[in-house]
Amino acid sequence: MFVDKARIFVKSGDGGDGAISFRREKYTPLGGPDGGDGGEGGDVILVVDANMTTLLDFKYKRKYAAERGQNGQGSKCYGKDGKDLYIRVPMGTVIRDVETNKIMADLAHKDDKFVVVKGGRGGKGNVKFCTPTRQAPNFAQPGMPGEERFVNLELKLLADVGLIGFPNVGKSTLLSVSSKARPKIANYHFTTITPNLGVIDVPGITSFVMADIPGIIEGASEGVGLGFEFLRHIERTRLLVHVVDISGSEGREPIEDFLKINEELKKYNIKLWDRPQIVVANKSDMMYDDEAFNKFRDEVKKLGYDNVFKISAATKMGVEDLLKECARVLSTIPVTDIEISEEEKFVPEEKHFTYTIRKEDDTYIIEGTFVDRLLASVNVNEPDSFRYFHKVLKNKGVMAKLEEMGIKDGDMVRLNDFEFEFLK
Ligand code: GDP
Ligand code: MG
Repeated sequence: MFVDKARIFVKSGDGGDGAISFRREKYTPLGGPDGGDGGEGGDVILVVDANMTTLLDFKYKRKYAAERGQNGQGSKCYGKDGKDLYIRVPMGTVIRDVETNKIMADLAHKDDKFVVVKGGRGGKGNVKFCTPTRQAPNFAQPGMPGEERFVNLELKLLADVGLIGFPNVGKSTLLSVSSKARPKIANYHFTTITPNLGVIDVPGITSFVMADIPGIIEGASEGVGLGFEFLRHIERTRLLVHVVDISGSEGREPIEDFLKINEELKKYNIKLWDRPQIVVANKSDMMYDDEAFNKFRDEVKKLGYDNVFKISAATKMGVEDLLKECARVLSTIPVTDIEISEEEKFVPEEKHFTYTIRKEDDTYIIEGTFVDRLLASVNVNEPDSFRYFHKVLKNKGVMAKLEEMGIKDGDMVRLNDFEFEFLK
């Protein structure tokens, strides 16, 4: 089964805690602090594996967590960093944050990598809090928690050339007579319609990948039928080969078909419509003369499409010239990344610590992540540590804010479970 979308959960490692430790030596019973820093948590990194062609793996495994950093230890020993976790994805995978639906990265090239969640920083050991006046800090910093998020992976097929046109005009036939090798890909099961990839070898020139993507039908750009899904896949193609049935064997008018398909492209994505097109009049073996073709070519040229070929996929007439022209045009167009607009771009949340202060009777209650983190890093029952705690409140402007709110000596201040009396 081919899966071109998957949702996974990723979590980076927490940082290890800094250690609270004091030197113990035979003849120095009251040694100085020697608690080392905690290790950094591991990142979760998505990396392109050119051999992968589907997102199938993610159907079975959806949760990915990197290792946490080890805690610091005595003797100034650093905790070991947690190992990064690498997740392999196929080339052409777009990563989208689920919560905001914004694009985090587009892994379009070989060896592209993206750190999807970064490991938490390790906490500082108590040795780092040693100052001339605080010789024995009885506290250390806890590690920062890792990040976690749900992300959507979307695979966009990587093909150089996309075949477009109404059903039964001969796209599949053209692909099958053109391509020697079929890349080994899992079956693409979109109900009964199957897009195919073919590697086209133009001897002595180049090789390129052509995709036969059926399903562009009227209404496709509004998501009717399967068209929408397929259009997503041709976004990355650099060149479109637009096939029409010149024989009108299905009772269709070639020029009308041509206009309708282009209309769909335009509605879906103006850039897709802007992409260079080679126009191919197929099934010419069924025609007695060139009258219909000439008429069609003239009309198409009037619309600005100069590259018009007459072929027969069935007899291979004109196919080689067409493929050579594809190779030539491709050589003039650089590989394009999908364009991500500013609104679509993911902006990482600021990782700052916040707090709020509210007043209840004579108690000022301070709450938030800032409080949790500060309390975790101090031992408030210990004078040295409490002084440090006080200093942080002052330096971070909490004290000034309290005064602004009208705090008086003797009022209580509460942070989670801890209360103290305010004294100026
Ligand atoms: P698709 O739906 O565009 O992929 O069209 P197919 O490749 O499946 O072809 C539809 C029908 O047209 C099939 O019966 C093909 O054998 C036939 N066909 C395709 N190319 C030609 C051609 O050049 N000449 C003739 N006479 N028939 C063709
Ligand atoms: Mg087909």
